[in-house]
Amino acid sequence: MGLLLPLLARPAALRALDSARKLLATPTPLVSDCGKRCNHACCQSDETGENGMLLFPFEEHFYRKPIPGFPFRLLPHDSVLKGGRRLVCEGHCPREHRPLSCRLFPLRLRITFDGPDDRPHANAEIDPRSWAICPLPERGGLPAFAPSFVEAVEQAGALLVHNLWLLEFLVVEQEKLDESRRL
Ligand code: SF4
Ligand code: SF4
Repeated sequence: MGLLLPLLARPAALRALDSARKLLATPTPLVSDCGKRCNHACCQSDETGENGMLLFPFEEHFYRKPIPGFPFRLLPHDSVLKGGRRLVCEGHCPREHRPLSCRLFPLRLRITFDGPDDRPHANAEIDPRSWAICPLPERGGLPAFAPSFVEAVEQAGALLVHNLWLLEFLVVEQEKLDESRRL
């Protein structure tokens, strides 16, 4: 891919990402602090110390400078799209600097295309990767989550699917997750 297209696409993608991140600045999976139940399991390092959250395309822009109180590293991560980045943290971060994937977790966005012009829609679903670490999916599925959280996830999704670069990321990630569940 040349450099010009990403350069042109970046401002709109960053606006969509910024709005989505803001929508999910306050809503949390439960009304109470779910991290008290699991000692914030989703923020703990695995045995390699190299786990982290995949950033959306262009989201590395929010991490181009050091952030006080938030030690992190960005590493290349091509599992979804070439040129992808993963943020590896040390298990704590100021909430306002949390990556979008962390704000969505343990949900993710399922993209469907419908209507006469195959418009994309985003619905919240439980992230299949969360079952291994998060106690919430076992509590009764999506209805057990705070409605305000599910609503904010879907509102964020509605913003993201209007940007082709972010939509591509969500669709490719979904295809890869679906494929891994079929194996
Ligand atoms: S693992 Fe699940 S319950 Fe624990 S803090 Fe993360 S989202 Fe909340
Ligand atoms: S960036 Fe923050 S929310 Fe995300 S895994 Fe690290 S400590 Fe947890």
